[in-house]
Amino acid sequence: METIHSFTIDHDEHGEGFYLSTDVSGIQTYDLRFVYPNSGDYLPSPVMHTIEHLLATVMRNSKKSEDVVYFGPMGCRTGFYLLLKNSTLTEARELTKESIKISLTLNTVPGAEKKQCGNYLEHDLEGAKVALAKYLAILEKIA
Ligand SMILES: [Zn+2]
Repeated sequence: METIHSFTIDHDEHGEGFYLSTDVSGIQTYDLRFVYPNSGDYLPSPVMHTIEHLLATVMRNSKKSEDVVYFGPMGCRTGFYLLLKNSTLTEARELTKESIKISLTLNTVPGAEKKQCGNYLEHDLEGAKVALAKYLAILEKIA
């Protein structure tokens, strides 16, 4: 089988940050790399799960909601994928920064009731906020 695009990226050269991964058929896939790959430091599953609920909800309630195709975790637990329609790298990064700022003000995890989530007990709002604040600082350094 052919190697898919995300496995062709040199992960030794792809540290913390915000990257355009692919731009196919008008849909841009961004890599939101929270932690350095293969560093031994990975986001805990409850933290990833809560960030998924927070950013997916906030982005889908933003002015860009019509362009949000998907937001979800990387299986390697170093970050997230954001899929947008008709976006530039700068717009995607600004949407992410604004969505993180709103997420940091929330005191409950959206969609975390038993009927709304497949693992509703596995959340960590405080841990998610720590990881989001750290990632926001990384994004603020980029632009
Ligand atoms: Zn869930």
